Amino acid sequence: MITQIHVPVRQHPDGLELVNARGENRGYVDPRQVNGRYVLEDLWIMQGSICDLKCTHCYTASSPTNNRLEQMAFEELRPHLEDAARFGVQKIYFTGGEVFVNEAVLRSRAPMNEEFVRNLRCALEIAPVEILTNGRRYIRNHFAVLRELRRRHGDRLRLRVTLESPRAAEHDAIRGKSTFAQTFETIFQLQEMGFIPVLTAERPFLSEQTDEEIRAAYQALFPKPVEVNLIENVMEMGHQLVHLAKQGQAPKPEVFITTNCFSILDKSPESLMCHFSRCIQKIDGEIRYYPCPVIYDDPRFELGHTLEESFRRVYVAHKNCYDYCLKGRGATCRTRSL
Ligand code: SF4
Ligand code: SF4
Repeated sequence: MITQIHVPVRQHPDGLELVNARGENRGYVDPRQVNGRYVLEDLWIMQGSICDLKCTHCYTASSPTNNRLEQMAFEELRPHLEDAARFGVQKIYFTGGEVFVNEAVLRSRAPMNEEFVRNLRCALEIAPVEILTNGRRYIRNHFAVLRELRRRHGDRLRLRVTLESPRAAEHDAIRGKSTFAQTFETIFQLQEMGFIPVLTAERPFLSEQTDEEIRAAYQALFPKPVEVNLIENVMEMGHQLVHLAKQGQAPKPEVFITTNCFSILDKSPESLMCHFSRCIQKIDGEIRYYPCPVIYDDPRFELGHTLEESFRRVYVAHKNCYDYCLKGRGATCRTRSL
């Protein structure tokens, strides 16, 4: 008989500095509870870090060869979707990488990312779903499925497509030559299917100043309605670090968030994703829970292998906690329509 040795995952907050040189305590966020029971609002699923693009700012450093975040097969994801249902999940987001590609699709061995489609079908039976996509070309192999799922689920299925700018040259400078035209065509076709796409971009890259100007500039491109969602901050991580280095810039130093910072920055712990979200990632063959989708592949922030195990205090001790969530207006991965 073979005895299985259970190797425990590194428990958060292993390896985190919880008191600074001035003796101030690290800020933290506790998971959401209702009537003494943990509840989950948003579940994020990082389907894999492989992508057909290699955008200059990509914080997951995704590319056609980056498989660090592995593809999630349906049979391994299903129990986690069922757990999320038990804890009252209200929205499920799929992101990557590009969710519509895997190795087989990218190397032209298969037209569709079949496991993703199975994951998507199952998730839609549980909660409304939003898919984040670059909307370039591989999503089009999945149009028949998306059309069918829209007939069945209506607005319960949303697609969030990145269009970095209303101007092609600015989008292409970040995402690659001709990508604006390809993504524009996809958005147009999604509208023809009845979807109201959510167009998403990073505010720091836009020259328009006000929310109204930004919304109007995007809407003017399309005959039918679009929603617009903005990411307020850009992370110094992944390809963005390489991009900064090419411009001769160093990343800004990490900000130590203390328990007092929430009131100083006028952000409540309850407004942060680590309060109401969890994110699933597959790394080294295992499903792992993270507090949010902006921290990945960092054992210091792993919260375990199950949702129940993941309901633990999260110390805001990652560089992205300030750079993304707390700086300025504060960013979130949740869709917030302008
Ligand atoms: S930003 Fe999105 S589309 Fe661009 S490389 Fe990263 S995952 Fe792919
Ligand atoms: S990055 Fe934001 S959501 Fe994630 S743990 Fe830090 S503060 Fe929380």
